Amino acid sequence: MVELNIKDMLSSYDIDDLTIVTVCSHSSLQLFHGAKKEGFKTLGIAVGEERRKFYDAFPLAKPDEFLMVNDYSDILSYTDKLKQKNAVIIPHGSFVEYLGADKFLTLDLPTFGNRNVLEWESDRNMERTWLEGAGLTMPTEIKDPHFIEHPVIVKYHGAKGGKGFFIAKSFEEFKRRVDKKKTYTIQEFVMGTRYYLHYFYSPIQNNAYRLDKGSLQLLSMDRRDETTIDEVQRLGSIAELEEIGIHPTFVVTGNIPIVIRESLLPKVFSMGERVVNESLKLFGGIIGSFCLETVVTENLEFEVFEISARIVAGTNPYISGSPYSEFIEPGLSTGKRIAQEIKYAAKHDLLDKVLS
Ligand code: AMP
Repeated sequence: MVELNIKDMLSSYDIDDLTIVTVCSHSSLQLFHGAKKEGFKTLGIAVGEERRKFYDAFPLAKPDEFLMVNDYSDILSYTDKLKQKNAVIIPHGSFVEYLGADKFLTLDLPTFGNRNVLEWESDRNMERTWLEGAGLTMPTEIKDPHFIEHPVIVKYHGAKGGKGFFIAKSFEEFKRRVDKKKTYTIQEFVMGTRYYLHYFYSPIQNNAYRLDKGSLQLLSMDRRDETTIDEVQRLGSIAELEEIGIHPTFVVTGNIPIVIRESLLPKVFSMGERVVNESLKLFGGIIGSFCLETVVTENLEFEVFEISARIVAGTNPYISGSPYSEFIEPGLSTGKRIAQEIKYAAKHDLLDKVLS
């Protein structure tokens, strides 16, 4: 559990003059753009002039100021400076990765979302306890590789963006390809189509899909574009290519907008609701944006292979709204929604309910 006390962190803050801060990568353009639209000051943390320079190309998404650091782990030594600016950190996947999970957990600055979610999300066993406890179906785990009878995906622990994952169809193939020095999980490879569902949970507002506590929104969904698996068939079938030693990889290079058939939306909401309710029981609740990474099978059932507990880059196609957020508020992006939540919380003296 995080020892930091959010009320203490906020005690020196002028909450009418907050600055939205994030690391210049991942979904930062969207976050700055959304925060500016809601009237916040913005600050981007960047390494190297190259990073700073490219924001000139996007004036509406360029932060008001930059904090240039030599290394992202230096952020910790700038906390006093950031406190003077009443900084509220919006973490995204790259923020946590660049800073390192341990440092992120000890960062003495108000941070959007509940930081206690990190251990539940990053440990595959705890993640399974959470999601299965919420009644979601996850791909079957194969404990002993001798029992590989169907295609499986082998996932190395700590691997980011699908790097190094591989598919195996038999024990022999697994044995040939596995790197025994690494720890891994073996999952059934689920056949179906992928949907990455972008939710927003507010514990403090009741103006959307109602939960026991707070409310849930579906802001958008995407499909990740993963190289080489998503286009490898241009050269031949995966089986053919594997015979000549070419193995597909799952490295994310971009995101494709998508909608799901409307009859599946009630299930989408029910899954989100159960994930939130379980999180409230386990660790005080997942707050703000989160994403369920799913495969829909031919029986129209969802299998959830992963959860991301903060803004995902898959929301980037929807800077000016999505086919779902348009029904909530025209032009609503996830970045803007996060800024709105902070604004609402500041106005109603509820910042400690959405920051940690
Ligand atoms: P992950 O790092 O768990 O998000 O996985 C990386 C990518 O591998 C995903 O975006 C999917 O394309 C694919 N993938 C992961 N798990 C499964 C699974 N159990 N069945 C099918 N595809 C999967």
